[in-house]
Amino acid sequence: MKLTKIITTILFTVLSIFVFEQSVTANTAIVNGEGVNVRSGPGSEYDSIGNVNDGQSYPLVQQQNDWVEIDYNGESGWVSQEYINIERTEQEYDEIDSDSAETMYNNTHLRSGPSVNDAIIEYVDQGTILNIVHSEKEWLEVEYEESTAFVHRDFVTDTTKLPNNDGFKNKTIVIDPGHGGRDVGAIGTSNTYEKDFTFLTAQELASELTYLGADVHLTRSHDEFISLNSRASYTNFVDTDAFISIHYNSVADLPDVTGIETFYYSDQMKPLAESVHQGMVRASGDEDRGISYGDFQILRLSLQPSLLLELGFISNKEQEALLSTNGYQKQLVSGILEGLSKHFNR
Ligand SMILES: [Zn+2]
Repeated sequence: MKLTKIITTILFTVLSIFVFEQSVTANTAIVNGEGVNVRSGPGSEYDSIGNVNDGQSYPLVQQQNDWVEIDYNGESGWVSQEYINIERTEQEYDEIDSDSAETMYNNTHLRSGPSVNDAIIEYVDQGTILNIVHSEKEWLEVEYEESTAFVHRDFVTDTTKLPNNDGFKNKTIVIDPGHGGRDVGAIGTSNTYEKDFTFLTAQELASELTYLGADVHLTRSHDEFISLNSRASYTNFVDTDAFISIHYNSVADLPDVTGIETFYYSDQMKPLAESVHQGMVRASGDEDRGISYGDFQILRLSLQPSLLLELGFISNKEQEALLSTNGYQKQLVSGILEGLSKHFNR
């Protein structure tokens, strides 16, 4: 044989194995009857486009009421269900050895039990990390609030299968709640202080990250004044994977202005900034004010991967009210987590 012929033969063999493997994993419609009509749509009023005979099998596309759509030699064909036996191929699910899974789609259903008949108790976004309590064939029981919920295996990826993923384990993160003590930061429309909002967000972020296995440090654990120098040298002392400085904005003269803005100092931090920023904007639904280079002392002094987040304007009355709510804080934090997780797993 000439070399090209050998290669062609090998290629063909490989291809046919592949095609064969694909066909055995799908559900199959087996004809039960002679000269059964194949129609162009799901009903006897549709035109007949051919006939099938007893024992013939076709890939099943879908079922609609009493009709079955088959792949009729590359065309779509419909056969009355009474002449079809469906052979279901049990999908194989590998043992999950990770203790968490990540959702692959937006609006993934969490259910109260391990079947589609169980109530949907929550819709979660793509990229949500779920802690696995127990895995059972095609359903995973995951931690949800104070209890557990079930998610179908088809909608999640085992986090161990993600490239280079180790979640937040082995990650050290320093969270810097901006301002504190006599430095109140910006002042909101109802005389609220930036330092209180930054602390609220930092605590929520810290508790979520700790829960996800990260080693978390805060530059302040209560309402006290700490200089920018001390904050920076603290994070340089702790060997951190990310330093996140949290701030809120204010422009008293422009009470309509809202939005989230993310600052980085060195260009190497741009991908991290982009990732976290996108997560926050998506999760919060607040205005996107983009990522920018920011010549902030805290970023300049930090030798570690650092970001400064401006998470919203407390000079905007609606934002200020929203920021005081637990729900919105949780949304913001879930966005930060999503961004960090995507960045670390890249
Ligand atoms: Zn600030």
